[in-house]
Amino acid sequence: MPRPIQALIHPSNLAHNLARARACAPDAQVWAVVKANAYGHGVENVFEAFRAADGFALLDLDEAQRLRDLGWRGPILLLEGCFEPRDLELCSRLKLWHAVHCEQQIDWLAMHKTHEPHRVFLKMNSGMNRLGFSPQAFRAAWTRLNALPQVDEISLMTHFSDADATRFGEDGIAHQMAAWTDATQDLPGERSLSNSAATLRYNQRPEVRADWVRAGIMSYGGVPDFPEHDLAHWDLRPGMSLRAQVIAVQHLQPGDSVGYGSTFVAERPMRIGTVACGYADGYPRHAGSGTPVLVNGRRSLTVGRVSMDMLAVDLTELPDAGFGAEVTLWGQSSQGAVLSIDEVARAAGTIGYELMCAVTRRVPVRVEPIQP
Ligand SMILES: *Cc1c(COP(=O)(O)O)cnc(C)c1O
Repeated sequence: MPRPIQALIHPSNLAHNLARARACAPDAQVWAVVKANAYGHGVENVFEAFRAADGFALLDLDEAQRLRDLGWRGPILLLEGCFEPRDLELCSRLKLWHAVHCEQQIDWLAMHKTHEPHRVFLKMNSGMNRLGFSPQAFRAAWTRLNALPQVDEISLMTHFSDADATRFGEDGIAHQMAAWTDATQDLPGERSLSNSAATLRYNQRPEVRADWVRAGIMSYGGVPDFPEHDLAHWDLRPGMSLRAQVIAVQHLQPGDSVGYGSTFVAERPMRIGTVACGYADGYPRHAGSGTPVLVNGRRSLTVGRVSMDMLAVDLTELPDAGFGAEVTLWGQSSQGAVLSIDEVARAAGTIGYELMCAVTRRVPVRVEPIQP
């Protein structure tokens, strides 16, 4: 028998979440963002669930190739554009749309030999200071691109740094919206600004929704503005459940400790379960004692340090749960109880994004059959 741990992918939840993005931006088109191997879920595992998207956005060329191999003929956008001139050949061959965020990428396009001109998304650095042309340089970049026979349609794109919260106590996107509007107002072309946080939080503003929203984390059932809001607030569902089993039960007396470093010491008699999940599976070692888990669908807490292959959970209040009990580290239990990945991430001082991407190769991934 394989070690009792698996990552279960929930296609119906993924499809529901994508529909939520569409409902937030009914007049826009929706990119399903599938970078980082679909946020750790596997491009192949989410493809059917996200087929209703208007396009797929990603950044590794091999993932674009995999989508074409799966039969996707619609738009694919390379969010970081090309990394070297040769990449443009693949863009031509696979009909990829690509971001253009720097002068070098325009130089490469100008030298590129292609029969069919490319659709590009010209990126503005409206304040995040990661990728893109400054507002001052944006028009000149647009004019340069517009003069190239290699370029067909030019769309406009930017990315928010604080759509999930406030910035310096004010509206998180105001400073970027001001720079954006000022520099783009008389340029033609479709526009894409919103990530999940902006799609959810600013859905009443048409200029923020614009023509294309880029739904990443929300599609996977991660809440971009947790703990201010939770899954129920945004009507999102877990895209993945990490489930394992109790493989041993221990009985503690007051004074007994659990795990490496004896960081947890029982103050009363306790029953604990040893679970077949550790940091080598991608469960965060920084999640200390007291991180929430579901045991047979009921809430409990971890006890002591996470080790490479195991962690411990408190079974004291769950007398029916013993050897073989199902432990849901995040996601949905087989009974349907939900533990959001954001809660676990928070206990480990990180975000749901990181945990989903970090599930390791030794964890078997299974796609839940779609219920009729
Ligand atoms: C990853 C990414 C997104 C999606 O962000 P989420 O917060 O996951 O919705 C959108 N746009 C760009 C440019 C990205 O790199």
